[in-house]
Amino acid sequence: MGMRSIRARLTLWYTGLLTVTLLLLGGAAYLLLAYSLAHDVDAALHGIASTLAEEAHRNPTSPFPAEIDETFRRFFGFSPRDRYFQKLDPFGQRDPHQPGSGKLPLGPRALKNASQGLSTFETLEGLGPYPVRVLTAPVMEGGRVVNLIQVGMSLQNVFTARNRFLLVMAVLLPLGLLLAGGGGWLLARRALKPVQRMTETAHRITAEHLAERVPETEAGDELDRLAKTFNEMLGRLDVAFNQIRQFSADASHELQTPLTILKGELEVALRAPRSAEEYQEVLRSGLEEIDRIAHLVEGLLLLARAQAGVLRMDHQPVDLAELLEEVHGRLKVLADNHSIHLQLGLLEPVTVHGDHERLRRLLLNLVENGIKYTRAGGSVTLSLERQGSWALLRVADTGIGLAEPEQEQIFQPFYRSPEALTLSQSGVGLGLSIARSIALAHGGSIEVSSTPGHGSVFTVRLPGNA
Ligand code: ADP
Repeated sequence: MGMRSIRARLTLWYTGLLTVTLLLLGGAAYLLLAYSLAHDVDAALHGIASTLAEEAHRNPTSPFPAEIDETFRRFFGFSPRDRYFQKLDPFGQRDPHQPGSGKLPLGPRALKNASQGLSTFETLEGLGPYPVRVLTAPVMEGGRVVNLIQVGMSLQNVFTARNRFLLVMAVLLPLGLLLAGGGGWLLARRALKPVQRMTETAHRITAEHLAERVPETEAGDELDRLAKTFNEMLGRLDVAFNQIRQFSADASHELQTPLTILKGELEVALRAPRSAEEYQEVLRSGLEEIDRIAHLVEGLLLLARAQAGVLRMDHQPVDLAELLEEVHGRLKVLADNHSIHLQLGLLEPVTVHGDHERLRRLLLNLVENGIKYTRAGGSVTLSLERQGSWALLRVADTGIGLAEPEQEQIFQPFYRSPEALTLSQSGVGLGLSIARSIALAHGGSIEVSSTPGHGSVFTVRLPGNA
């Protein structure tokens, strides 16, 4: 699993950010510690110096009475005797009668400061194994410097404390990072587990196994939403694949029927010598079957092209009112034969841009259906209306109608309602699919509203540009 794995990248980012954060925090803590240690040393030196100054003032000859020693030990944990200490005259000379460790050098800056009544803190090297912090403080009397007091303290403790802190950090930081990194790695694996499962499922899904679904966690999180979306997509694909499969099966079946009939008729004709009339009859019947096949193939081709978006279309002005009259004229006889009253309703003048031939096909399909699915004595009415920039073509019948669930299905290829089958054997169920494809190819739509037993109204909406 290289850097291309989200898990590795997440862990790396997480650990990197944690490292930076810890380093910053550690650095800040270290600086704070160093500052506060240095401050403590200076405060202690200051405390010692002022106590000593007071004592020197009170008792100039005896610098370290026993109780002073005691006090120091109580407050600071050591006696000035243990440390560096010396008492000088105002010019920086050591008084040989005054005790003290006497090892502290006096720099010109400290001497100058002292002559002005100011204290000086210095860190001096070379006095011992560790640097020594030295305070040079003047002892004032009546606004005059009478003595200088120098106290020093080894910085050993400060150094040890700082080093110990660094050591602890150096051990704990990598350890903490290691633990956090490991934890992050495990957490990332847990969080990405659904993705792993999705990948595995997606691997198993093929056109034959579209029923597979990736597991949903119901957690409502991003991955769960992804899984749901993925499953919804699979659902739609499943439906689409099934439709295509159904379409192929239906198309083959519809083609097979006339071919079987044709084959049977020819075989029978060939079984024995026939008269010329008999051969003519067989040929005529054969031609009829071939017509049916050609018609079917034409419809299938149109649907396939429309679905692929490669339907060739004219873009000529089409006078819809004229087209309706033409269709009415062509199907009047058919309607009369079925004792159905085919009539023209309101015809508003509307012209659209489109394919005359295909729009006629669309209307013929709708009106033929109206005639087929209406019982004798009923009527089919064609009308045309303009609504804003739209043309509304209506074919209304007083036929058998359609139940609610069928109203969407009838536009699917090869769908025929059981009731329709008992009424008319002609047609294979492509008429409305073709009508819809043509409407869509014109940028329009087709819809049906129907009351079972009372009739249906098919409305075609076409974008008009008269
Ligand atoms: P076909 O007419 O060849 O069956 P269509 O695609 O034209 O195919 O129609 C599909 C189905 O829609 C029909 O079988 C019928 O069930 C239903 N249908 C179509 N037009 C009407 C209508 N005017 N009234 C009632 N049902 C209809």
